[in-house]
Amino acid sequence: MRRYIPVLTIAGSDSSGGAGIQADIKTMSAIGCYGMSAITALTAQNTVGVGAIEGVSPMMVKAQIDAVFADISPAAVKTGMLFSAPIVEAVAEVLGHHCVKNLVVDPVMVSTSGKRLIADDAVEAMRRTLFPMLTLITPNRNESEALTGCDDPRRQAEELRRQGCANVLVKGGDSDAVDFKTDMLLTADGDWIELKADAVDTPNTHGTGCTLSSAIACYMAIGYSLPRAVEMGKLFVTRALRSGAKVTTGKGHGPVDH
Ligand code: PLP
Repeated sequence: MRRYIPVLTIAGSDSSGGAGIQADIKTMSAIGCYGMSAITALTAQNTVGVGAIEGVSPMMVKAQIDAVFADISPAAVKTGMLFSAPIVEAVAEVLGHHCVKNLVVDPVMVSTSGKRLIADDAVEAMRRTLFPMLTLITPNRNESEALTGCDDPRRQAEELRRQGCANVLVKGGDSDAVDFKTDMLLTADGDWIELKADAVDTPNTHGTGCTLSSAIACYMAIGYSLPRAVEMGKLFVTRALRSGAKVTTGKGHGPVDH
């Protein structure tokens, strides 16, 4: 009997379809997994900016996750924009009940257009509740700096391991490097893996982080080892950036091409 490989995203909705839940589901479909969602917040946004944000109640976030697990147990889960401390706590509690496997946490803090997407106390709640249970955390340079207070990627990764994260991928997509973008993976075994990709010259970067964390979750759900899943996720994003580089969608930062 044919079966889908179900993957769950817990994240915010992006009305313009480039990031958040919409990017996650598009990525999951492109890879051949079955995408499911628990929405934490609605954002009214387009490629130019984020207008309004409204959080979903923590109870409703929990109910969505419970409903999914009661019927279709996901082979991997990713989290994106978690919006508030009570939502972070609700997500950690319910994922703890379901003994989630393959949990990828993208600690989304600021939108591509510069809008803050998470309350300050939600960051501390994430550290306390989600860090001990996650499989992989995928901060960009700014998020790594906010979480660790250091500006060196290796020290950031080591500090995040000290804070309880099993595996850490510090992304370099937002670095100033012009030829290559380098991500650093520090594994639970203490191995360092450097992942280099040619820099893609494009304004169309909206949804890059969401796409990467979703792709990694999918490859883990399919059964690849964590380092291989990260490598394949990065290849997926680089291809999506290249293929969307010259496409015009809206007037601002257009989306990557899923
Ligand atoms: N989640 C939501 C709902 C967003 O609106 C955004 C950015 O606008 C993000 C996550 C983060 O997007 P990115 O993948 O570009 O880091």
